[in-house]
Amino acid sequence: MFYFDNFYGKKILKSSLLNDCDCFFTTREFPLTKGSLDSIELECNNNRIFMQNKLNIKSLKTAKQVHGENIEIVSDEKDFYDNTDALISNIPNSTLILNFADCVPIILYSEKDNTGSIIHAGWRGCAKEIAAKTVEKMKKELNINPKDIIAIIGPSIGKCCFETDEDVFLQLIKDKTKKDIYAQKGNKYYIDLKMLNKYQLLEKDVHNIDISDYCTCCMSDIFFSYRKENGITARHSAVLKIKGDKKCQ
Ligand SMILES: [Zn+2]
Repeated sequence: MFYFDNFYGKKILKSSLLNDCDCFFTTREFPLTKGSLDSIELECNNNRIFMQNKLNIKSLKTAKQVHGENIEIVSDEKDFYDNTDALISNIPNSTLILNFADCVPIILYSEKDNTGSIIHAGWRGCAKEIAAKTVEKMKKELNINPKDIIAIIGPSIGKCCFETDEDVFLQLIKDKTKKDIYAQKGNKYYIDLKMLNKYQLLEKDVHNIDISDYCTCCMSDIFFSYRKENGITARHSAVLKIKGDKKCQ
C-alpha cells in the first residue's frame, strides 16, 4: 500500500512494503531534478543538499537516463553512470536516485542481501524488458534469489492517459489475451505500463509487489508529467538508500 509521508517536512510517497527503509518517491513539493524548468534549479540544488544531510550521505549515485536497457552495478568510486536506465547497489550507505515524469519508476530491494535497484521503465524500457533484465542481473551476478525481492512500482502515467498508436501497442503487447493491460478505442490504444512491468517481474519470480494507483498525468498537481505539461516540466525522483548494516531492520 502506498501512502504520503513527509521527509523532514517535505512531501514524499512511500510503500508499506518498505516502511523502514530510506526508500521513497519525491513530489512536486520536493523536486531534486530540474528537467527543463531552469527556474527551479536553485531549489533542486538546495533540496539535494538537504536530503543528503538528512540521509547522512556525501553523494548520490545517478545516471544519464536514455530509455535504454543498460543496467549498472554501482561501484564505490563512481557516482555518475552514462547511458544507463537501471542502477543496482549492494554497497552499505550508498544511495541511488533516478528521475521521472510519467515513466514508470521501480524500486527493488532484498532485505536478506541488503541489495537494491532503481529502474527507469517507460514504454521503451518496458518494451526492452528492463525490469526483467535487472532481476536477471541481480540473480546472475549478485546471487540474489528473486523470491527475496520486494518490488515497488511507483507513480507513472496510467492507462487512463497513456494513449498510443498501433506501432507502440505492437511493441508492448505481445499477449493480446491479457485484457487488463490495455484498452482499444478506434485506432487508439490505452496501455497500463505499471501492470506490464508487474507481469515482467512475476515472470522472473518476483511476487512481493506493491503497485501505485497514482497517474502522474491526472495528478500533475502532485507529480511532474511530461505529457500533461508538454515536456516543459521538472522530475520527481525515486530514492533508495542501502542500509548501513547488513539487514533492513
Ligand atoms: Zn491519468
